[in-house]
Order: sequence, then structure tokens, then C-alpha cells
Amino acid sequence: MPLTVHQFPCLSDNYGFLARDEATGLAACIDTPEAGAILRELDKLGWKLALILNTHWHPDHAGGNEEIKKATGCTVVGPAEVTRLSPIDREVRGGDHVMLGETRFEVLESGGHTLGHIAYYDADDGVAFVGDTLFALGCGRLFEGKPDQMWASLQRLAALPDDTRVYCAHEYTASNARFALSVDDDPALVRRADEIFAARERGEPTVPTTIGLEKATNPFLRAPLLAGRVGASGKADYEAFAAVRAAKDMFKG
Ligand code: ZN
Ligand code: FE
Repeated sequence: MPLTVHQFPCLSDNYGFLARDEATGLAACIDTPEAGAILRELDKLGWKLALILNTHWHPDHAGGNEEIKKATGCTVVGPAEVTRLSPIDREVRGGDHVMLGETRFEVLESGGHTLGHIAYYDADDGVAFVGDTLFALGCGRLFEGKPDQMWASLQRLAALPDDTRVYCAHEYTASNARFALSVDDDPALVRRADEIFAARERGEPTVPTTIGLEKATNPFLRAPLLAGRVGASGKADYEAFAAVRAAKDMFKG
């Protein structure tokens, strides 16, 4: 396969991702939660870092940019909002594309968690790096955007092929599963939640997930079907989504 993804834990619940274009040997780092850990992994793998691809400006996604650029001379690519934290070399937005050797990443606008949030999608390899937009059984909190913007972003991701491997930036899945079970009792969700709790007991990651799995079980993508459970019967899809998001924000589990 032309793109190899290496995933490793960073900070308390982030994942670091390094992706290598096998045709040229060039690597990209998707977000920079922890410079030290990322530089160590690069060293261990012997990969040459060409790019940092930022999804949004939050420090657990872009906080390692400067140290990693200094150590590797890589090019920093991201949405304009990253300059709130540190400089970037190339600003991208939805509709742009970024080449890593022969691998082509489409930039997808995915605002809502932050206004300028973007995702990177490699259609040839069926891989998407979605930052804090879509999580396994969850979605990012709306720190800056409104529900209609986030709903549109989630629909853009949901429109990708079912077998797309989705690399989410946090391991939040067990707590997301507890919330999901509080608003949905679909058998596919119940089965998946059991698998998730067992995987986490064994210390295994639940990332990556897939678009197909999320469409079938993620309560945020299923919001229109759950409207009755969250007091949003007869409302627009994005309002049902907003009600599920509000329920999650209040959930103590
Ligand atoms: Zn974030
Ligand atoms: Fe984050």
C-alpha cells in the first residue's frame, strides 16, 4: 500500500500519527500533540519528515509545530487559524490539496470544533485524518462553531466511502460508548460498545475506525433517527444533532 500510517499515544489521550508515502519515502506528521514523542518515533522508524499537516489550532494539535520544524526543517501546512499559536508555511482550506510525494491529500472543510478546522483525505488509500471533528462513537465539542456548521462537516465526512479508515485524534471511545448507550439501544451499537470496553480493558486502541461503522453506530451521525430520544422530534437534522451534542455535554458517565 502506498501510504503507511504509524499511530502512537501522546499526552493523556491524544494519538500521534506519522504517514509515509512509500513511493518516495517522505513522511508527514498529522498534528503535533507532543514534539518529543513524535521526534522519537521518527527516529525509531528512520522516516524523513517532509510535512506537518495541522487540522486546527488547539495546542494539543499544533503545540509541537515549532520544535518539530526546528529539528527536521519540514514544511508546516494548516488552516490560517493555526497562526494564533505559531507561524505556518502554507495555508490551506477546503477544496485545496496537499501532495506528500505521490500521495494526494484532499483538504476537507470540517469546521465546528474550531471555526477553521480541516480534515485530510487520501482517496487512493482510503484514509482520512479528521482531528477533533469525528471520533469513534463521538464528535468534537463545539468550542467555536454552531451546530449547523458541525452537522455539515460531519455529513461531508459521512459521504466518504464506508471503508475509509478514519484516524481520530483522541482515545475517547469508552466514554463515548457509555453516552451512546444512554441515547440509543440499536443492536449494532450494543455489540460495538461491548467490543470497545473489552479492547480498552486490554489496553488496545479503538482508532482507526471506519465511516461505515460510524454511520451505523455513532449517535451524532444517527441524530435524526434519535430525535425522539433527545426531545427533538420533528426538528431539522442539524437541530437533532444539536440536541444529541447538548445531551453529551451534560452527560455524567
Ligand atoms: Zn481540539
Ligand atoms: Fe484535541
